[in-house]
Amino acid sequence: MNHFDVAVIGSGPSGASAAFHLAKNGISTVIIEKETLPRYKTCGGGFVYRGRKDLPFSIDSVVEREFNTVDVYLGKKLHFKTERKDPIITMIMRDSFDNLIVEKAKEMGVTILQGNKLKSIEHQSDKIILTTSQQTITAKFVIAADGALSPTAKMAGWKTDTRFLIPALEYEVKVSDEEFKRHVDEVRFDMDAIPFGYAWNFPKKNHLSVGIASARRTKINLKKYYQEYVQHIGLKDIISETQHGFQIPVAARTDGFVKNGVFLTGDAAGFADPVTAEGISNAIYSGMLAARAIAEADLNMSEAEKLYMEKLNEKLIPELKTGEWLAKFFYEQKTIRNLLLKKYGQRFSEAMADIFMGDRSYPTDIKKRMTQKIKELVF
Ligand SMILES: Cc1cc2nc3c(=O)[nH]c(=O)nc-3n(C[C@H](O)[C@H](O)[C@H](O)COP(=O)(O)OP(=O)(O)OC[C@H]3O[C@@H](n4cnc5c(N)ncnc54)[C@H](O)[C@@H]3O)c2cc1C
Repeated sequence: MNHFDVAVIGSGPSGASAAFHLAKNGISTVIIEKETLPRYKTCGGGFVYRGRKDLPFSIDSVVEREFNTVDVYLGKKLHFKTERKDPIITMIMRDSFDNLIVEKAKEMGVTILQGNKLKSIEHQSDKIILTTSQQTITAKFVIAADGALSPTAKMAGWKTDTRFLIPALEYEVKVSDEEFKRHVDEVRFDMDAIPFGYAWNFPKKNHLSVGIASARRTKINLKKYYQEYVQHIGLKDIISETQHGFQIPVAARTDGFVKNGVFLTGDAAGFADPVTAEGISNAIYSGMLAARAIAEADLNMSEAEKLYMEKLNEKLIPELKTGEWLAKFFYEQKTIRNLLLKKYGQRFSEAMADIFMGDRSYPTDIKKRMTQKIKELVF
């Protein structure tokens, strides 16, 4: 069979989640993936609890570690610790994590075409023709879940890229057993470890994922800041470290998320959190929304497109807009931000933990609230 109701391009969390929910609703679905699975994906692999809530199956088999506490540092002076009953962040490796969701989608009846790179999309009156490196298939709908570079969006007519992509560098670091013991119990974020950005140290089962991201697209020597960070957290006895660099889209597209039966999800749409650059949970969520829209519309194209936009506008888009404003303030207005953090840092960290847990989203009146707090500080 080479005709499907929906062709999903990409088998990351957004694509696999979309495919799972489509097949669950009895919709014939194919995932087209250019790599051979399971594939490595450059990522810190910190999976926040709100994403876990959106997965209708256990991920226990791929959990590397779970952290009920998170430590946020600002330089050497400020340190905030938050704690929750359930794991705020679960550590996973993306090859096995993504593959687990794909396997769950497969159990639902999804066809997987791996080693198939999408090369072109052509619209005909009643179907979309997709040519891959291996074959041609047809579908009524396409879900673009092909990540930060999203060639599918380009092929489908998004001519300019209105997302904002930031550079990030991540290292898989193996250290001696003794050194590992010193770091294994703490998941930490260090604000300002790099100008306009942050660094992290995420302990996995047997190694550390250490990384650095800049919220600005200026020419910046990420490697140098990574090396400084390694010293800052006292990481010694390194046995090996492998470097991986990529981009994270931290501002959603401004020219729509759906066009002629092609739906953008996850990084292809620009749905990573603008403050933390955490993108797995919104990838899973947006994949689920696209699937639900298509299912609820009973494969009616204009209805599905309308429903997808409505679902995105319910929560995700307003949240991302507020996040974009907050990220600008947070990374660009350091003096006033640091004054605020001195006074309200613990409260801010608790709020971020609540967002990670999915217990609240960014307040839509954030500008007003921040202005009020700044006035209280200054006057
Ligand atoms: C250094 C770094 C660290 C990060 N750390 C974290 C973190 O700790 N926590 C977190 O939540 N987020 C993190 N992120 C962000 C997170 O990785 C992304 O937001 C997330 O992977 C987006 O998922 P996705 O499904 O949209 O796309 P991806 O996971 O990128 O999946 C896209 C898939 O599409 C496939 N593909 C691409 N082109 C084609 C084609 N032409 N044909 C067929 N298949 C194709 C790719 O092979 C890939 O499998 C990090 C990102 C980076 C760069």
